[in-house]
Amino acid sequence: MEKRVRLRFAPSPTGGLHMGGVRTALFSYLFAKKHKGDFILRIEDTDQTRYVKGAEEYIIESLKWCGIEPNEGVGFGDGPHAPYRQSERKELGIYKKYADQLIASGHAYVAFDTSEELDAMRKRLEAAKVVAPQYNSVSRQNMRNSLTLSEDDVKKLMDAGTPYVIRLKVPRNEEIRFHDIIRGWVVVNSTQVDDKVLLKSDGMPTYHLAHIVDDIEMEISHAVRGEEWLPSAPSHVLIYRYLGMEDKMPLLAHLPLILKPDGNGKLSKRDKSGIPMFPLDWYDERTGEKYVGYRETGFFPEAFINMLAMLGWNPGTTQELFTLDELIAAFTFERVNKSGAKFDPEKTKWFNQQYLRMKPDAELAELFKPVLKENLSESHYSQLSTHYLQGVCKLVKEKAHFVSEFWEGGKYFFIAPTTFDADVIKKRWNEQSAGFIKEVTEAFKNLNTFTAAETEVTFKATAEKSGIGAGQVMQLFRVCLSGVGGGPMLFEMVELLGKEEVVKRLAFAIETIKN
Ligand code: GLU
Repeated sequence: MEKRVRLRFAPSPTGGLHMGGVRTALFSYLFAKKHKGDFILRIEDTDQTRYVKGAEEYIIESLKWCGIEPNEGVGFGDGPHAPYRQSERKELGIYKKYADQLIASGHAYVAFDTSEELDAMRKRLEAAKVVAPQYNSVSRQNMRNSLTLSEDDVKKLMDAGTPYVIRLKVPRNEEIRFHDIIRGWVVVNSTQVDDKVLLKSDGMPTYHLAHIVDDIEMEISHAVRGEEWLPSAPSHVLIYRYLGMEDKMPLLAHLPLILKPDGNGKLSKRDKSGIPMFPLDWYDERTGEKYVGYRETGFFPEAFINMLAMLGWNPGTTQELFTLDELIAAFTFERVNKSGAKFDPEKTKWFNQQYLRMKPDAELAELFKPVLKENLSESHYSQLSTHYLQGVCKLVKEKAHFVSEFWEGGKYFFIAPTTFDADVIKKRWNEQSAGFIKEVTEAFKNLNTFTAAETEVTFKATAEKSGIGAGQVMQLFRVCLSGVGGGPMLFEMVELLGKEEVVKRLAFAIETIKN
């Protein structure tokens, strides 16, 4: 029988969830949903020294905002494999049980070395010009462990309560092969693999042991994680083998790095591209550092997710915009790149712009309201009609990336200009053009229906009558209405402002600019 598809997102609560972490969660989610499987949130909190308060809640809230919710795990309802926090799972004794099994079969051993002794070992190896000093099949022979000490000595040390760790006994010069869905076959010689600590002296498992035990117990079918875990994958393969559980090993997928915009190195949370690195605002209590989030910057979760999906994955077509359901349908690991994906801040904004344009004006108007409330008097705000608000959104969204830009880009829809773009005036204001503005004001006064089409026809006819090219006065006319030289479609704007307001503004402009 085919194994049920079950993927886990297994972050450590050591800080805010970086966008790279969200991408790992996203790809796991997409694959799980595509195969009608499960998506699980497991909290890997075995490193107590790196635990950060609030990080777990942050992870949960981020996944919710992104709309990629696990159907099992911490914060999302207990499934059949509760608890889902490793610190709680430790209490069940499962990690110790597996470690003991490895000792019993001769594939793990106990080591008593102090940190000073480990330091001294490293210095010795460095002095002997060993390229990558590590605790391994050679160096362990000179250390204090159950392989070098007599059984009696080991017992004595244990009885005396001497701190010890449990290490994996990696064989010398053996080929380790494993398959990665993204990278294909990977072959590593065991000489390059160190004797990883499996259980620490505080009784806590390390990541290496804990994630394997949990992936086995939780019946995980695919383990998706960052490329930084690729070097330790050979140790993991050995652990599965020595446990006699190679058949339970999930298929591995190591995602490519997300690179800085210039391709120079890994994107970091301190990147200065001006685009957030975290899904939500994040404040690190320990360091006092604050990071602004995608949500608070005004990104739509759909745009954020779409952008993330394209970082390292491509559909094999030119399609760039995907709903979550479309991503689920299109996603495969085969189309994830092996090489790093360059983060593009401009493209990230572009995604939001596309979603902004697709949003119904009614929804945008709701998002715009708080900004208007802040900038307008109460009586002014309360007079605004839904029709007018939605009309403004429809026009200003064409030139914006975020709703937060609507005010800057369209405040003249609410407040008539009192100053006028000096450059345009200097270039375009003269006796003839001023005459035209007067003429067109009069012509507008006589219109019964004040639509974009009608006002445009009138505008052009008046220009012709005045013997002036319509193109020559277009921008001047716009400046008279809005104060600024650029903006949305001109006659749409005229229609929305309405006859009375347009006539009033033109008259004011004529008087003001004249002086
Ligand atoms: N706790 C690990 C991390 O945060 C998880 C890696 C994995 O998914 O196996 O990177």
